[in-house]
Amino acid sequence: MKIINTNSKSEVLKSMLGKLLFLANGAMVGLLLGMVLQPSWQEEQAVLTSTGLQGQQSVRIEEGQKEEKICYLTFDDGPSKKTEEILDILQEHNAKATFFVIGNSLTEENRPILERLIKEGHAVGLHANNHSYEEFYATEESWKEDWIQLKERLEKEYGISPTLFRFPGGSACTYMKGRVQEHIGWMHEQGFTCFDWNVSGEDAVGTPTVYSIYKNVIQGAAKYNTPIVLLHDSNVSQKTVEALPEILKELTNKGYGYETLEKRKEYIFRNSR
Ligand SMILES: [Zn+2]
Repeated sequence: MKIINTNSKSEVLKSMLGKLLFLANGAMVGLLLGMVLQPSWQEEQAVLTSTGLQGQQSVRIEEGQKEEKICYLTFDDGPSKKTEEILDILQEHNAKATFFVIGNSLTEENRPILERLIKEGHAVGLHANNHSYEEFYATEESWKEDWIQLKERLEKEYGISPTLFRFPGGSACTYMKGRVQEHIGWMHEQGFTCFDWNVSGEDAVGTPTVYSIYKNVIQGAAKYNTPIVLLHDSNVSQKTVEALPEILKELTNKGYGYETLEKRKEYIFRNSR
C-alpha cells in the first residue's frame, strides 16, 4: 500500500496525473453506471460519481496493480429464506461465494438449500452454532464448544468438513479483545483459516437501502484487487438480494472474477492483531 505524498515536485506531478486519471476514470464509471443502472437509480448515481469515488481513489493505491482481480463474496448467518435467490443470482453471473453458516439456521426446512449450495460449488465456512455473542463468547471454552458442535453437525448431517471460520462480529469485536492471537492460534491448530473482510456492504446495520449496499460494496471493492466482501444471508436480507445483481454486473464490468475463500490466504483485520 502506498500513500501519495505531495511534498516533492515529482509527487505533485504524480498527484496531478492521478487527478486527471481519476477524472477520466470517473467519466468512465459514470458511463458504465448509466448503462447498467435502472432509471430509479440514476438520481443516486449522480451522488456516487460526483462525491463517493473521489475520496478513496486519491488516497490509496494498492501494490501489484497487475495482480489478477478476484472478488471473494461472503454471506454470513445463513442458510435462510433468501439463500435460494442469492444462489440463483450467483448462478446467473457465474459467480462462486463463501457462506459462513450458523447452526441455528440448519433446520430441516433449510436442508435442501444448504445441499444445493454445496452442490453448486460454493464454499461453506463455520460462523457459530449459536450466534448470540453473549453466549458464544461467554467463557474461554464456550466458543470452542460451540465451534465443535457446528463442525460435528456439518460432518454428520451434510458430510462436509469445512476449514474456513469467521468469528461472530469479526476478530475486532469487543468480545475478542486481548484474545485474538490466542483464538486464531487455536483455530490454526484445528486446521482452520480465519477470515475477516476488507469490504462491508453494511447490509445488517442501521437501515440499509438497496443503493447503500451497492455503493458500499462497489466503492469498497475498488480499493483492492482481491476484496473480501461481507454481506448477509438471513430472512431479512431482502435488500441484499435486490442489490446483488447490480453489484455483480458492476464488479464483472470492472474486471473481477469470483472465487471462494478456499482459494485465498487468511485475512485478519490489522487492528485486531
Ligand atoms: Zn454473523
